[in-house]
Amino acid sequence: MLGAMSEPTPPDMRDWGLVTRAELERIVIVSPHLDDAVLGCAHLMSAHPGVTVVTVFAGRPEQYPSPMERWDTLCGFVEGDEVHEARRAEDAAALAVLDAHPVWLDFVEHSYLLRSDWVRPEDVVDTLVTTIGDLHPTAVFVPFGLANPDHDCTHDAAMLARDRLGDGNTPDSIAPDPIAWFCYEDMGYKHIPGLLAWRIARLFRRGLWPTPAAMPVDLDRARRQAAVDCYPSQLLALEAEWRVSDKLAAPAPEQHWRLAPPPVGWEGLSE
Ligand SMILES: [Zn+2]
Repeated sequence: MLGAMSEPTPPDMRDWGLVTRAELERIVIVSPHLDDAVLGCAHLMSAHPGVTVVTVFAGRPEQYPSPMERWDTLCGFVEGDEVHEARRAEDAAALAVLDAHPVWLDFVEHSYLLRSDWVRPEDVVDTLVTTIGDLHPTAVFVPFGLANPDHDCTHDAAMLARDRLGDGNTPDSIAPDPIAWFCYEDMGYKHIPGLLAWRIARLFRRGLWPTPAAMPVDLDRARRQAAVDCYPSQLLALEAEWRVSDKLAAPAPEQHWRLAPPPVGWEGLSE
């Protein structure tokens, strides 16, 4: 049917969905927590050695609460444990399996804080712009940011960073070279009814049409599992709350979505 259309073929049509090698030269993945990038992008990292993972909520609270925070209890930690030392060590080990490198930011997860003290996207954006900018990425992968307040904050902060860094093609971009922006699906949370569709609809309405990319990945499941297994504490809680092993075993696929303005003339569909 496509070939039978009488209109001339738009020049870009053959390239839709494809990702160029140049775009994937220097990849940065923004992760809410110490595990989300690996859970959502292990196959991507496996295919592209040298990825940098910037984890936003890798900070230690000033004091661990007593009694302990619920998630930490599910993870098997006990009072007196240096939870963040352990979790950063897990992250370093997992990224080493995938030939990736960690950058840990010091923002503290909402679960340790009073509601009024939760970190907001505006608190994160300056650090994120500097951190991403210094890495001179050609592609940045950010979470859709579903359900968990830290994921939501990370997504919104990354979108603010995108507004400032630009995609290299807009006149006010501060990044010297083009940056391709992609969203990855938050493992676990993406299966919550409706939430992924909700986020995609929001991005669509603001003119950043999320479109699945034919991303070069390495489907080495053993390597992915070896990286995931480096997070024993988190897996305990993820199993208890989200049956993570069933989703890894299925496997629920990893999907990456390009964020880009609509083709010229299609903008009206956003309304
Ligand atoms: Zn998370």
